[in-house]
Amino acid sequence: MKNILVVGGAGYIGSHVVKMLAVQGYNPVVYDNLSKGHREAVQGHPFELGDLGDKARLAEVFKKYAIEAVMHFAAFIEVGESVQDPSKYYHNNVAKVLNLLDAMHENAVHYFVFSSTAATFGEPVHPKIDENHPQKPINPYGNTKLMVEKILEDFDTAYGLKSVALRYFNASGADDSGEIGESHTPETHLIPLVLQAAAGKRPCIRVFGTDYPTPDGTCVRDYVHVNDLARAHILALEKMAQENQSLRYNLGSGNGQSVAELIAQAKEVTGVDFKVEYKGRRAGDPAVLVADSAKAARELGWKPQYDLKQIIQTAWNWEQHRRY
Ligand code: UDP
Repeated sequence: MKNILVVGGAGYIGSHVVKMLAVQGYNPVVYDNLSKGHREAVQGHPFELGDLGDKARLAEVFKKYAIEAVMHFAAFIEVGESVQDPSKYYHNNVAKVLNLLDAMHENAVHYFVFSSTAATFGEPVHPKIDENHPQKPINPYGNTKLMVEKILEDFDTAYGLKSVALRYFNASGADDSGEIGESHTPETHLIPLVLQAAAGKRPCIRVFGTDYPTPDGTCVRDYVHVNDLARAHILALEKMAQENQSLRYNLGSGNGQSVAELIAQAKEVTGVDFKVEYKGRRAGDPAVLVADSAKAARELGWKPQYDLKQIIQTAWNWEQHRRY
């Protein structure tokens, strides 16, 4: 297997996977409409500008390269926006994916790696979320991702399309090279916002909620480095192809960190005592989300290599020298 179509490859997680695929000897072909992604993030790799809604363009790209597997990262990811404008989310994150799967079917491409999310689980019913945890999303964003997981099950049964669904917890950090990193507009994620406060680009960081049933009252999350996630994609792709079976994994560090702990760690790493404001809860935030990734450890030999300090260090390096 060599040619991998990476849809949404110019985005945050996609671009880190593209870089790692190339380092490992694959030929990643990026397909991106650049509505959210950055051309600079995939310099030096084959790039095809296109939208998932454009069937003719997809057909052209499948013809041009001998694509053997597809990785799909092109999705809208803002929970709040998905509540306000679900139509946008169901069109982009679900309906358009059918074009991609149909193009795969028409071109006899049998392997698909899908970016799923911890948001497919909804409110946790036990502390660490493994693959057997019930999937009951509490917002349209989570619904769209779970719908695609279901579509993939049906496509396996009917057409033999094998897929990996990777449920990420809190993707964070940046590549050690400083060449690529996280750049969302608008930025809603905690670590980049904290570091922008440290860099003086924002007046403060607002903490959403201090009355959660957690040790310090702030939300607990499981932060996992983007390059650890990237590595899991390649391991899972290879296992799926070797064994010709569909796979599902939850990917996190297994450690929970509170918002307050993360801010304290960021102050230490940056050496800046930035301002913190305490606010009310943000709608739709579960108190605690922590992964049980024992299955990925057992079956893929996957263990995160970056701890929270290294996550913050790499993200801080990116924040100070960001190229886009
Ligand atoms: N958060 C916060 N202030 C911010 C952004 C996020 O307190 O400006 C909190 C948020 O409520 C959640 C945690 O930080 O508890 C992580 O949020 P993020 O949006 O980064 O990821 P999510 O867990 O929602 O996927």
